[in-house]
Amino acid sequence: MEINRQTVLIVDDMPSNIEILVGVLESDYEVIFATRGEEALKIAAAQNPDLILLDIVMPDMDGYEVCAKLKSNVKTQDIPVIFVTAKDQEEDESKGLNAGVIDYITKPIRPAIVKARVHNHLELKRYRDSLKTLSMIDGLTGIPNRRQFDEALESEWRRARRNQTSLAILMMDIDFFKAYNDHYGHLAGDDCLRQLARSLAEVMRRPADLVARYGGEEFVVLLPETKIEGAMEMAGRIQAKVKLLNIAHGHSSAADRVTLSIGVAASVPTDKIMPLDLIKQADDCLYAAKQNGRNTIKSNL
Ligand code: GH3
Ligand code: MG
Ligand code: MG
Repeated sequence: MEINRQTVLIVDDMPSNIEILVGVLESDYEVIFATRGEEALKIAAAQNPDLILLDIVMPDMDGYEVCAKLKSNVKTQDIPVIFVTAKDQEEDESKGLNAGVIDYITKPIRPAIVKARVHNHLELKRYRDSLKTLSMIDGLTGIPNRRQFDEALESEWRRARRNQTSLAILMMDIDFFKAYNDHYGHLAGDDCLRQLARSLAEVMRRPADLVARYGGEEFVVLLPETKIEGAMEMAGRIQAKVKLLNIAHGHSSAADRVTLSIGVAASVPTDKIMPLDLIKQADDCLYAAKQNGRNTIKSNL
C-alpha cells in the first residue's frame, strides 16, 4: 500500500452503484464501503476515512440521518461528507447542503465529475490535516506542544475519572538554563532543548504516554493509568537518561552537565478536583525540587 493514500468510504444500498464508484476511485485511493447506515457509522468511527460518499435514499436509515449522526459524534464530525444521490431537485440539493455536507453530486454518476470533485475535496482535507498536525507540534523540538498536552490532559482526565484510575504528571525544568544560554549562546541552547526533547520521547513506553514542551525550558509528561510509584520510576529513568546525554554545563551549581528538576504528582480524579489542580501540584513539587538543590525529583506522595 502506498503511504499516505487517503481513504474514501462509499455508502450506498445498491451494490451496482458502489461498483461504479469503486471503479472510478480505486486507482487513486483506498476505497471501503457500506450498504447500510448503521454499518457506515461503525466503519466511519473505527477507520476514520478522509471522505464519505453518502447515498440519501436507503432503507432503515437515510442519508440525512446518517449525516446527522456522523456530525454528532466527536470521532466522525470532522470527516467531510458528499451526498451522491438521484434526488436532483433544487430543494433536495439545498436540504442536503444545509445538512452539513460539503458537496452534492447527482446520479447517474458521471465518472470524470466524481473523480475531479473527490480529488479537490481530498486535497483540501490533506491540507487541513497537515495544519492540524502542525498546530499541535512544537516548532523547535518537534515534540507535542502545550496545546496538544492540554487536549490530552482533558481527555485523559475524563477517562481516568470514568474508570477511577490514577493519572500522573511530571513537570520538568532545566536547571540554570539562563546561564547555559548566556555562556554557550542561544543556538547551543536551542540544540540542548532539541536533544533533551528527543531523549525524553525515547523514555516514553506506552502509546498513551505523552511528553510535550510546556514552555521555554519546561517539559511535561502525562502518564495515564499510572500511580505515584510508577511516575517516580519514570522520573528516575528520565534523570538517568539526561545524565547519559552528558551535555556539558560549566555554569550550573547543580552539576557539571545539564540537569533537570522534576515535580511529580498523581491522583485519581474526582468531581472535586480539576486537571489544573494536578498541574498545580506537580508545579509545587517542581518548585520544591528547585529549592532542594535542583537536579532532584519531588512528589506529592
Ligand atoms: P532554574 O534553575 O531556577 O530553572 O534557572 P533557569 O536559569 O533555568 O531559569 P530562568 O527561568 O531564569 O531562565 C530560563 C531560560 O530559558 C531563559 C531563557 O532565555 C531560556 N529559554 C527559554 N526558551 C528558550 C528557547 O527556546 N531557546 C533557548 N535557547 N533558550 C530558551
Ligand atoms: Mg523555567
Ligand atoms: Mg530552568
